[in-house]
Amino acid sequence: MSAIFERIAIIGIGLIGSSIAHATRLGGAAGAISIYDANADHRAQARALQLGEVFDDPASAVANADLVILAVPVGAMGDAAEAVASQLKRSAIVTDVGSTKRAVVDAVSAKTPAHAFFVPGHPLAGTEHSGPASGFATLFNGRWSILTPLNDARPEYAAAVAKLADFWRALGANVEVMDPERHDVVLAVVSHLPHLIAFNIVAMAEDLESVTESEVVKYSASGFRDFTRIAASDPTMWRDVFLNNRDAVLEVLGRFSEDLAALQRAIRWGDGQKLYDLFDRARRMRREVIEAGQDSPAPNWGRDETKS
Ligand code: NAP
Repeated sequence: MSAIFERIAIIGIGLIGSSIAHATRLGGAAGAISIYDANADHRAQARALQLGEVFDDPASAVANADLVILAVPVGAMGDAAEAVASQLKRSAIVTDVGSTKRAVVDAVSAKTPAHAFFVPGHPLAGTEHSGPASGFATLFNGRWSILTPLNDARPEYAAAVAKLADFWRALGANVEVMDPERHDVVLAVVSHLPHLIAFNIVAMAEDLESVTESEVVKYSASGFRDFTRIAASDPTMWRDVFLNNRDAVLEVLGRFSEDLAALQRAIRWGDGQKLYDLFDRARRMRREVIEAGQDSPAPNWGRDETKS
């Protein structure tokens, strides 16, 4: 396949940044890859892994890039955009991979010069691992990459959005366009709240360990284990997600708390039909997720398969 961009620059070479580097090389989506990370140890790892040409300062990394991808935690997006702003090429496309959109759109738009095109994005793909060694080329295969374009009527802007969509497709993803507010509510439901629940259950179990004398860990195969995988995700990334998607998460959390109280009542009053009906609905949803190609019925939720 012919390269979509001559050179891309990846700022932040953690799980998502390094996976983009692997997938770009595998599919030939770009002629060259420049890399910068604020963490010197991660820059050294990126060099050792030969993920691309690694620079020791952000401005040099973006100087010749046609596409600049900000792959840093959500709370660092504004600083990362500011650090590269002075060296952006004319008509360079700037994008991000942040898990929340409204706050990132505001932070990065404010720092991006008018001669570049900022097209916000979010690939819905990840694992609980972080850092440059955790990335792999097939991470985005069959997953959704959501773009939340700005209200920019210039035809060149529309062309930039289309080119970025082609790039994600070359990395194996399906592309959807959405507005940032809708993105933030949808993600609060499918990702942010499930992570919050997992963090809470695992922390609660740790508190109870003194009561249960380590039985929580010993018998963890019974459901708890899957929560521990989700709760192992990077604390910096998730702190930033909740600080930057506060309104949508609080709205969804309110609804969740009400439904949980209804379940509590059903258990207290022995309302088996209500419990059965809800569990049956939830089970059907699991089948729909598998049918939509968003997970596998294999043990370990198919994650070993995805990495191979
Ligand atoms: P990660 O593995 O921790 O990688 C982030 C990298 O950026 C780290 O090497 C970090 O260094 C570096 N960094 C932090 N601030 C920086 C700055 N100002 N300039 C340059 N580098 C900086 O995180 P990740 O999982 O790849 O997540 C990156 C982004 O993708 C986040 O915005 C996240 O919301 C989004 N995302 C994550 C997932 C997921 O499942 N993990 C999925 C989709 C989207 P330090 O480690 O030293 O801070």
